[in-house]
Amino acid sequence: MSELLTADRIDEIDNLGSKSPDPAALVAELVSAVDEGRVADPDDTGYALLVAVDILKQAGDLADALTLATRAIAEQPDDNTYARGVRGGLLLRLGRTDEGMAELTALRPLLETDPDSMYLIDELAESGHADTAVEWLTGALDAILERTRAQQHASEDAQDAAAAMIFGLAQHRHDLREEQGLPHDEYDNLADRLRAASNHALDALDDGPATLLFWPPAELTALLLRWPALVDSYPATWDEHRAQTERGLVVTSEMGGTDLGVAVGTVAGLAAFAEREGIDPTDEETQDAYADSLTGPDDLRAWPPGRNDACWCGSGAKYKKCCLPRSRV
Ligand SMILES: [Zn+2]
Ligand SMILES: [Zn+2]
Repeated sequence: MSELLTADRIDEIDNLGSKSPDPAALVAELVSAVDEGRVADPDDTGYALLVAVDILKQAGDLADALTLATRAIAEQPDDNTYARGVRGGLLLRLGRTDEGMAELTALRPLLETDPDSMYLIDELAESGHADTAVEWLTGALDAILERTRAQQHASEDAQDAAAAMIFGLAQHRHDLREEQGLPHDEYDNLADRLRAASNHALDALDDGPATLLFWPPAELTALLLRWPALVDSYPATWDEHRAQTERGLVVTSEMGGTDLGVAVGTVAGLAAFAEREGIDPTDEETQDAYADSLTGPDDLRAWPPGRNDACWCGSGAKYKKCCLPRSRV
């Protein structure tokens, strides 16, 4: 066996996981590829090991899972927070409580900044430490709400990011406390209100798919040259435009939105649409209506793409290396 282990094959193994009749063979396939330097994209080495960890964990082989998780941390020194979280959870499950708590506590600040950090809470809750999980969620909510109060004039992006974090933290906390049979407190009421508000907001998005209007680089430049009045509606650079679009999609998805995507705008298309409808192309409502009118297969890009698929922004890079990390605060 000298075949390369591709990202697609790792994805496939991840999906098969412990449902496979021979999970041990899948673990061996992953580990031998790592040992023999046959991972097609060396950046996927940590990912391959973590998929193996997951299969071992489900099979109840915690000791071997721990060994591979430790190895995954060493393989990706710059991007190993998830691997460290997994390792911390395994230590807790193995009864090595002090070590596990130390590993997870080092990552705890992520709960205030990274919408993808909720795995820390799952690791705690699933290893018998639901009380600590609730305590950490409460602490993160306290900190973010305190910060939002202190920074009344934060940018719209920062406010959106904080709102998405608050939503996720409050929902997780609400559900964990409900499992524990605890009565509603103020944050639980907040969680209920936010959920109701988001359901309402989603209803307002029509019944169709929720798409955000997105401009490729040349089109964004042409748009602002043609209608300078739009300068205030868009960020200063295209990079910020796509980061803002990614974050908008993350927020909508956190709120339970499905069938998400971007509608790819063109200046010629918007001009023709506005003329046909007899409306001002620079009105915000015109832009929304124009986005809704884009229904052709070339106009729409579904979101999110697979981690290893081409990014929705059209950069040609893999999603996991392009816009996926841009959603982080
Ligand atoms: Zn409730
Ligand atoms: Zn991208």
